[in-house]
Amino acid sequence: MSRIAIIEKDKCQPKKCNYVCMHYCPGVRMEEDTIVIDEKSKKPVISEELCSGCGICTNRCIFGAVNVINLPEALDEPTHRYGPNSFELFGLPTLKEGTVLGLLGQNGIGKSTIMNILSGLMIPNFGDYEKESSWDEVIEHYKGSALQNYFKALANKEIKAVHKPQMVDQLPKVVKGNVKNLLTQVNERDKLDEIVEDLDLKNVLDRDIKNLSGGELQRVTIAASILRDGDFYYFDEPTSWLDVRQRLNAVKVIRSLADAGKSVLVIEHDLATLDAMSDNIHILYGEPGAYGVVSGNKGVRVGINAYINGFLQEENVRIRKQAIEFSIRPPTPEDDGEILSEYSDLRKEFEGFTLEADAGKIYHEEIVTAFGSNGIGKTTFAKILAGEEKPSEGEILEKVEIAYKPQYIVSDFDGTAQEYLFENAPTFGTNIFNSEIGKPFALNDLLDKKVKNLSGGELQRLAVATTLSQDADIYLFDEPTAFLDVEQRLIAARAIRKIVESRNAASLIVDHDIVFIDYISDRAMVFNGEPGLSGKASKPTDLRTSMNTFLKDLGITFRRDKETKRPRVNKYDSYLDREQKEQGEYYYLKEN
Ligand code: ADP
Ligand code: ADP
Ligand code: MG
Repeated sequence: MSRIAIIEKDKCQPKKCNYVCMHYCPGVRMEEDTIVIDEKSKKPVISEELCSGCGICTNRCIFGAVNVINLPEALDEPTHRYGPNSFELFGLPTLKEGTVLGLLGQNGIGKSTIMNILSGLMIPNFGDYEKESSWDEVIEHYKGSALQNYFKALANKEIKAVHKPQMVDQLPKVVKGNVKNLLTQVNERDKLDEIVEDLDLKNVLDRDIKNLSGGELQRVTIAASILRDGDFYYFDEPTSWLDVRQRLNAVKVIRSLADAGKSVLVIEHDLATLDAMSDNIHILYGEPGAYGVVSGNKGVRVGINAYINGFLQEENVRIRKQAIEFSIRPPTPEDDGEILSEYSDLRKEFEGFTLEADAGKIYHEEIVTAFGSNGIGKTTFAKILAGEEKPSEGEILEKVEIAYKPQYIVSDFDGTAQEYLFENAPTFGTNIFNSEIGKPFALNDLLDKKVKNLSGGELQRLAVATTLSQDADIYLFDEPTAFLDVEQRLIAARAIRKIVESRNAASLIVDHDIVFIDYISDRAMVFNGEPGLSGKASKPTDLRTSMNTFLKDLGITFRRDKETKRPRVNKYDSYLDREQKEQGEYYYLKEN
């Protein structure tokens, strides 16, 4: 094991601490300084030759910017390093014609770095960050491997790479005009009508891009990528803000690229979607912010199972202490529980939209998930429960306090995350806040950053954490998983569970990640109907019944993986798909 200290540049604030790490570094008092100030950035840099990894600087840094890491012995030279004491990436995946390759790993572990290298936006430096890197060296480096031909062709512009970026909400800043014009301009494969149909974009064609919702922007961006004529396609998180039907439509169009002989790479944190979309996957492991290693190529089922079990056999690497456990919960008896909130049949009329909800109860200490298409009344229902909207008919029999995290989080707060928490999180700074919320959501890493500059996942953590710090009876989350990686989704699920139980409260969670829903739900409610026209909400009931109703409506069946019990989408018209439809068991058959 070699040990090195890493300084994360965006966390390091020497002006505020007066170079504490330097003062305490034992090496700095000897002949050659282990920690010196970098002239350009005015930030300390640790000599990787002299540093013994004793960890004193780590303990002194109040911003958590210094991190001593153990690099596994077996690693070769890095593929890329951003600078001294900065993140390094080991390995690159190789794409294959006619297949979809998935990338699975935590935020900050190097997935976008890989995409930027493979799509030609960035030339890898193999660890030598001081030298100007060149494609010639890259081609020489990969001599004799498939990547040599790839980079050769990429450097000579003989192949074209198409890239769908992660943050689609940036699109309106760079593209103006209406959707139809945009899509017509990029329609190089002459498939406009087909893709508009597949991604259900007909109704938004005449709309201005600046007026699209997040889910609409996502679908327009996916369409624009698919329509381009490339050889290699890169999709960075294509499903955030999409509902389940839209996610599976995205799977369909992305797979159609592979069927047309293209090579596709996808980053995706929704495990059911990743599973349905990919032929093979690579898992990225390491230390987020410090280093990331690309695993060997694995079949999609085996690879996702290994991730869930937390152990990569071929690499002999443990990526998590415990496996993620999926339990097949027996249906909860109807009257089992102490009632927290109760409502009669409800009806809400807006101009052009009607929501009806069957009478239902929410119990103390339970987590109820709600799923259904976008635009079908989930948020409206939540607002009625919260007393923000008055129902046109019916009433809330047990009134409750609701803490609410909306789907789209506003980030125009002009200040740091710490200032945001001071203003919005009543218990911020207390011990209980730190242990129940601060630690699981790793808020210390965010405190000094401007809210405006937070990444999607960071903003989501801040918003979920703020909601959990309110004093409420029902904690309501509208798509809390967007932009979180699998580990963060899991941690959020556990934190919500713990708080709901310790406060004798309940939680209602609207989400579209089926694996997450399966993991977190005690009970569930389904919204059916015509998006934008009418919605019908079932009463909260057991997950299996709710899923069955929901999936029947979508015409999709799921099975459970034999090994890990995680839900997997059945191939359309496969033997199991037909058998389950015949038996009316859309979620899974009783015996598996
Ligand atoms: P992921 O896509 O898996 O979330 P990224 O590839 O975006 O991860 O980033 C991996 C690490 O590299 C992060 O710690 C990030 O802060 C760092 N990083 C990304 N771009 C740069 C850069 N231009 N300079 C220095 N560090 C960077
Ligand atoms: P979901 O949360 O399932 O995506 P919403 O409850 O946000 O759906 O919206 C359902 C429908 O109700 C949408 O067509 C929306 O335009 C409409 N709607 C929501 N709030 C209002 C309102 N205050 N006035 C008029 N229409 C509304
Ligand atoms: Mg909504």
